[in-house]
Amino acid sequence: MAAQTLPAAIGFLASVREDSGAGLPRRAFAARGEAAEVRDGFPGSHLVAHLLHSGAPDGAHAHAGGRAVLLAGELYNRGELLSLLPDGAASADDAALVLALFARYDRHAFRLLNGRFAALLVEGGRVVLATDHAGTVPLYANVAPGRLLAATEVKTLRTAVPGRPLAGTRPVRGLPGTYQLRAGLVLDVDLGSGACTADHTWAPPRSRLVLPEDEAVGLVRRSLEGAVHARLGTATPMVVLSGGIDSSGVAALAAGRLDDRIDTVSMGTEDADEFAQARTVAEHIGSHHSEITIPTDELLRSLPHAVWAAETLDPAIVEYLLPLTALYLRIGGGNRRILTGYGADIPLGGMHREGRLAPLDDAIVSDMDGFDGLNELTPVLSTVAGHWTTHPYWDRAVLDVLVSLEAGLKSRYGRDKWVLREALADLLPRQTVLRPKLGVHEGSGVSSAFSEHLVDAGLPHEHLRETKKLYVRELFDLVVVGGRDPDEVETTTVLERVTERLCSKVV
Ligand code: ATP
Ligand code: MG
Ligand code: MG
Ligand code: MG
Repeated sequence: MAAQTLPAAIGFLASVREDSGAGLPRRAFAARGEAAEVRDGFPGSHLVAHLLHSGAPDGAHAHAGGRAVLLAGELYNRGELLSLLPDGAASADDAALVLALFARYDRHAFRLLNGRFAALLVEGGRVVLATDHAGTVPLYANVAPGRLLAATEVKTLRTAVPGRPLAGTRPVRGLPGTYQLRAGLVLDVDLGSGACTADHTWAPPRSRLVLPEDEAVGLVRRSLEGAVHARLGTATPMVVLSGGIDSSGVAALAAGRLDDRIDTVSMGTEDADEFAQARTVAEHIGSHHSEITIPTDELLRSLPHAVWAAETLDPAIVEYLLPLTALYLRIGGGNRRILTGYGADIPLGGMHREGRLAPLDDAIVSDMDGFDGLNELTPVLSTVAGHWTTHPYWDRAVLDVLVSLEAGLKSRYGRDKWVLREALADLLPRQTVLRPKLGVHEGSGVSSAFSEHLVDAGLPHEHLRETKKLYVRELFDLVVVGGRDPDEVETTTVLERVTERLCSKVV
């Protein structure tokens, strides 16, 4: 079964209890979709859940052999996984596949999966929670003896009674007793006692592969091609295209695979855009291309929505994600499957603009150690608008290759991301292949617009980093912890609160 337009489920809120009392907290997802209610019973436990979907939730819930699984998201290595199971498994949807693998491998099944998912599995009085290798679908849990709550958006758990500390997780600001699972984690919970053990299913490689140029280039090309193809789905895909090498590569590989034209879209603001560079690529690959200009004030008005969707406290991440959130909110035409070039710069050190190899590898090690919990790849940024995003560069197989290549293949002949540029050279115009990296927050002018917004409001420009951090924290407290509607957040009030906090710090 190929990936559909959207996965069977894009999120869930689930409760597992020893008794059959008490239902679910009120549904409060930022992600847009219908909610299907699932009820399932086992000796020693009862499962109630809301599966968030866009039409076909059955594929996200499977029950067999005294176990049930809920899966938000999708798998990209179905072929590999099917080779481990009897022939009849081929027609199974992703949740059923996970269940069949669990019957054979128990919790180690999650080590086999290359996907973008959050999962919950119930087996009597045992509950297993799992994130994909990079935690791209955030998963939160609240556990006490006899009961467990889990959800893909923490705001849905904001009214939960505090639970006990959980191994392998991190606390969530303002929501004591609720925790976020780490990336690549399996959390095995004994429902009766609430005790749990955590097991990591993935870690960023620390060793480096030494390869001849042509082999490294071939490896990158093949793995990226595989990741793009696995993500194409059954309807016409869309690529959010900047004209930078990362998204241009994804668009070219997608266009090359399909008989029909793909759709590409590029965003800009009144202050800045990359329209010309994106158009060059769109013409070259023959995509249906469109341009969307978002007024800067509309972009800034989307700040509460970006924090509401991503549930992140990191101001730099919010700057990267804001233009994309605003873009997704503007893309019409029903639920779309969107591929991005997001995340390539982390394993390739694309943000590192100096040629020396030791600082380059330092940056890669540090960024690969630091991504977890930022929610940079969360699907909610686009599911707020009904669209599903997927990121080929953070496919598990691609990421393993990109991280592992020795730094001299990433920075070579005076060029950053050399191995990627070389791997895509035959598919794109020369000027695209050679184009210097430009961050999404720079190309759209978002960083400077956010800074101006704060300075115009009278906040001191010598403390901008601190101010942005406080601003994002204030938004988080309102729309995530406080459950406020992002449409109702007044930026003037937020600015006043930030000013107060800054003053009280200075004094
Ligand atoms: P490079 O990193 O070399 O600039 P890139 O522009 O493709 O390549 P980023 O700048 O890291 O990558 O941006 C991350 C992703 O966000 C892009 O790959 C693309 O999918 C999306 N994106 C960035 N800017 C825009 C834009 N102006 N319009 C549409 N999508 C964009
Ligand atoms: Mg089913
Ligand atoms: Mg990039
Ligand atoms: Mg760019």
